[in-house]
Parts: sequence; structure tokens; C-alpha cells
Amino acid sequence: MNVLKIAIQKNGRLSENSKKLLEECGIKFSNGISVLKTTAQNFPVELLFLRDDDIPQYVEQQVADIGILGENVVFEKNKDVNIIEQLGFAGCRLSIAIPKEETYTGPGYLMNKKVATSYPKILSDFLKKNNITAEIEEISGSVEIAPGIGLADAVCDIVSSGSTLLTNGLKEVETILKSQAIIIGNKNLSKAKQDILASLLFRIRAVKNAKENKYILLNAPESAVEKICAILPGMKSPTIVPLVEKGWCSLHSVVKEDEFWERINQLREAGAEGILVIPIEKMIL
Ligand code: ATP
Ligand code: MG
Repeated sequence: MNVLKIAIQKNGRLSENSKKLLEECGIKFSNGISVLKTTAQNFPVELLFLRDDDIPQYVEQQVADIGILGENVVFEKNKDVNIIEQLGFAGCRLSIAIPKEETYTGPGYLMNKKVATSYPKILSDFLKKNNITAEIEEISGSVEIAPGIGLADAVCDIVSSGSTLLTNGLKEVETILKSQAIIIGNKNLSKAKQDILASLLFRIRAVKNAKENKYILLNAPESAVEKICAILPGMKSPTIVPLVEKGWCSLHSVVKEDEFWERINQLREAGAEGILVIPIEKMIL
């Protein structure tokens, strides 16, 4: 049957954002028929709810065709799958942390020490690359308490704000990997499934582009238009609409989310007034 099976995390930090992304792509799910599986009403996809650790294996074996999960788990599991798209949410890093009163001297600090982690493969690659011999203590959760209870000298764990480390008397000293949510795919998808994936990716990119950009409207004297256009490159070029007030116009354009504060100062200096910045729902380039 031509349905693309998508594995997402059942319960956890990725679940809500994964479902939200698909909903923003206009895909509707009838929730609740089964807790493990649901079929979309208006798009040929089926959702499988799994533990994130199992997703790479299931995608490799084509129990699922594609999966949404963190890069950290993809690299740790090291399965034979394609990396298809970065999704820009669930940003975090995998870092080494040590007791805060210790002095870190570089990776050599870990020599002959015991490091607790849920990421033994990534950690062991890091240690090998730095010619460090250390003992890896594999634990599946609450890694950050390991030094406090005498189980390890250091940890290699997921960090986002660092507050969990701090409350456990640890400090982050080395980032091994930066991670975000990605889509992985089976390497042997049929033509029909590849076509469904292509139309899903088209929608996902439209949603992602929209999030990364803002629609901006502003008023300016006609004499400032040229200068303002140079600051606002837009998708093609800004739209300019005359105002009733003589000598004034309204400019409409698109700016990147991460650039817009910087641009807004430049625009005000150039003579722009009444600046409105509006979210975009979908953006097809
Ligand atoms: P499961 O029960 O499915 O195995 P889990 O406990 O392994 O879940 P979560 O804690 O829900 O996993 O985290 C899932 C993913 O979210 C992580 O693999 C990572 O990519 C990302 N993540 C983890 N912690 C954070 C954080 N503090 N901030 C942002 N993203 C995070
Ligand atoms: Mg997990």
C-alpha cells in the first residue's frame, strides 16, 4: 500500500514538536484509535509512536519508512539510514561535564578516569580521536547524578541551558556534538514512497522557511526608498505602495528572523516609520 510510515517519539521532548510540524504541513490525524499507530485523514502517511532509541533500527529495517529524532541518537545508534532533512527544533548539545571545583585541562583531563554516559559510541569515538584511555560507565538515565554518588568522575550528557548540570554541582567543559531534530529515511524506499516523501518535504520546507522569516511593512518618505530597498532585499524586491499623504509610501518585504532586529535599527536610521513585523504561515520559494 502506498503509505509513508513515519516514526516519531511516543512520549518525550520531541513528541509535541514532531506532531506540530506535521499538523502545520496540513496533515490531519485522527488521534486515539490506537496509542501505537494512527493514519492521516488527508495525506498518505501513517504515524508510529516509538521510543526514540528504537527509531534508527526500525527505519533501517523499514518497519518505518522515515523517522523524526535527534541527531544525537542517530549518531549514537549508527544505523544504515539516510539523513534527509534538519528540522531546526530540539537544539541541544552532547557535552563533557566535570565537578565544578575541578580544573579542566583539555581532553587529557579524562585520562584513566570514569565517565558516565548514555552515549557510549559517541563518547568512545571522542576519546579515541584524542588518544585518551578512560572507562565508560553506560547508564540509561539521570547521568548527571553519577559523579555526586561516586559512580563516575565525569559525565557525557545532553545539555541545553546547563541548569541541570549546575544543580548537580557540575560544569560543562567540552562540547562533543551539536544536535537538532532531523528526518532519517530508509535507503530503499519505493518510487511511490519517495514521491510521498518529496511532497511532505516540500510542505516541511515551506513551514520552515516561514518560521525563519518575517513579513515587514513600513512607511517611509519617497526620498528614503532607495536606501531602504538596499537594507531590505526581500524575496525579489520590496513592494512599494503609495500613501494618501503626498511624498510618502508603504514598503512591504520579507526579512530573516535572525536579522530583523539589526535591520530594524538600520531602517529607522534611514527614515522608516510605523514598522510592523508579522509572522508568515507558509513560504514557498
Ligand atoms: P525515550 O523514552 O523516547 O527514549 P528519552 O528520554 O530518550 O525518550 P528525551 O529526553 O525525550 O529522550 O529527549 C529526546 C531528544 O530531545 C534527545 O535525544 C535530544 O535530541 C533532545 N533533547 C534532549 N534534551 C533536550 C533539551 N534539554 N533541550 C532540547 N532538546 C533536548
Ligand atoms: Mg531515548
